[in-house]
Amino acid sequence: MSRILIVEDEAKIARFVELELVHEGNEVVKAFDGRKGLDLALSEAFDLILLDVMLPQLNGLEVLRRLRMEKETPVIMLTARDAVMDKVSGLDAGADDYITKPFAIEELLARIRVALKKRGSSSVSDNLMEIKGVRMDCDRHEVTVKGEAVELTNREFELLRVLMKNKNIVLDRDKLMNEVCGYDYVGETNVIDVYIRYLRTKIDERYGIKLITTVRGVGYAIKER
Ligand code: CA
Repeated sequence: MSRILIVEDEAKIARFVELELVHEGNEVVKAFDGRKGLDLALSEAFDLILLDVMLPQLNGLEVLRRLRMEKETPVIMLTARDAVMDKVSGLDAGADDYITKPFAIEELLARIRVALKKRGSSSVSDNLMEIKGVRMDCDRHEVTVKGEAVELTNREFELLRVLMKNKNIVLDRDKLMNEVCGYDYVGETNVIDVYIRYLRTKIDERYGIKLITTVRGVGYAIKER
């Protein structure tokens, strides 16, 4: 499943594309003007953005230009037929691809697949993770359980991130120490046990879930089931 942002002021086109993408199993968020689109693109994690050029408030090229100062989210521009300048400017500004309107939905879907594959799993799937109802958004540095925000310190957050990213793999204390505290950290290896205890208090116990598993004599793991 991918999370896709559609920035398009023509509601009918946006709705049509949304239905197709949802039908293919994606999660879709829509914005109808450039400013709202830019806000969402900067504040949330998306696998891909479909960005119309002609938009109210802030045009698509400007949205892309500002987005690229901060993020590398793949972008496919939607341009008017024969607007050659838009295509050139879009690619110059860091668009991954463009498609001219009116487009056949099959062609758009094919281009989306290519754009998603090109970026591989590096962007969102790593930055947006969910296991047993615990959702981690690393871009926003947020953890929510059942929709409720959980306050974590930086080290607790980092420990949870490493465990979730390596789900189903047992990690020993040394490995966790290096990941969470850095290789040059000098201290007791039982700090990991302490952070695990804090995480369990804040998540497992509070929400009645069994998230972190202790593997005796080895270390810890987060198992998907
Ligand atoms: Ca438009």
